Amino acid sequence: MIKAIIFDLDDTLLWDQKSVKEAFTATCQVAQQKYNVDPEALEEAVRKEARELYSSYETYPFTQMIGINPFEGLWGNFLDDDDNFRKLKDIVPTYRKEAWSRGLKALGIHDPEFGYELAERFPVERRKNPFVYEETFNVLDELKEKYQLLLLTNGSPDLQNTKLEITPELVPYFHHIVISGAFGRGKPDPSIFEHTLTLLSLQKEEVIMVGDNLMTDILGASRVGIHSVWINRHNKERNEVIPDYEIKHLEELYPILDTLNKQ
Ligand SMILES: [Mg+2]
Repeated sequence: MIKAIIFDLDDTLLWDQKSVKEAFTATCQVAQQKYNVDPEALEEAVRKEARELYSSYETYPFTQMIGINPFEGLWGNFLDDDDNFRKLKDIVPTYRKEAWSRGLKALGIHDPEFGYELAERFPVERRKNPFVYEETFNVLDELKEKYQLLLLTNGSPDLQNTKLEITPELVPYFHHIVISGAFGRGKPDPSIFEHTLTLLSLQKEEVIMVGDNLMTDILGASRVGIHSVWINRHNKERNEVIPDYEIKHLEELYPILDTLNKQ
C-alpha cells in the first residue's frame, strides 16, 4: 500500500528547462539589439563557456554532490549558511560576467562591460519566467487527498526556495520539503532517501519516487528499494539505470498507484 509520494521539483513539477531557455532568449535579444548577433548562436556560446568555467572552479565537486547545475549558477545568489555555499556566492559574480563575456567573444565581440550587463540581465529574466507543467496542479490536487506528499529537490536552499517563492502555489501541497543543500548530500545518495522515509515515518515499500532524472531520482530511489517512476516527457534515451515505471505525463501515475495498491 502506497502512503506517500516523493516528487522531484525541477523538470518534474516545474518546467525549469523552459524557464532557462526563455531567460536566455530574452537576454540574447538584448545583445542582438546592440550588436546584431544571432541570439541562438550567443545562447549556445554562453552555455558552452558557462559549462566549462563552472567545472573549473574549486566548488565544482560540491555543486556536483549537492546537485546545482551551471545554469543555476548563472542566476542563483546562494545566500546559504555554509562555507561551501559562501565560496560559491563569492565565485558566481565573476563566473556570470566571464561566461557572458566569453560567449560574446566567441562571436567576435570584445565588450566585457556589456558582458556584465547581460550577466545581470539573465537572473532578472529567469525570475520573470517561471513555468509549471499544465497538469502539475491538477495531479497534486488529486493526490493530496490520498497520500502524503514530499518534495525532494537537489540544490541550494536559497535558490530552490526562490523558485518556490515565485511559484507560491506549490508549497502548500507538501507535508515535507527536503533540499539537498540543507541536508548535506544530494540525490542519488541513499542517505537523503532514507531521511525522507524517516520524515514520513514510512517503510520503503510504502512510498514512490517520481522524477525526471535517471542518475539522481531513479538511481537513488532504487538504491534504497523505493519504487521509482521516471517521467520522460521528451523521449530521452534510457541508460543503465532502470526505473520501475516510465511515464510521459503525470496523470499516468494514477493507474500505477492503483496497481501498486492492489498488490
Ligand atoms: Mg529534476
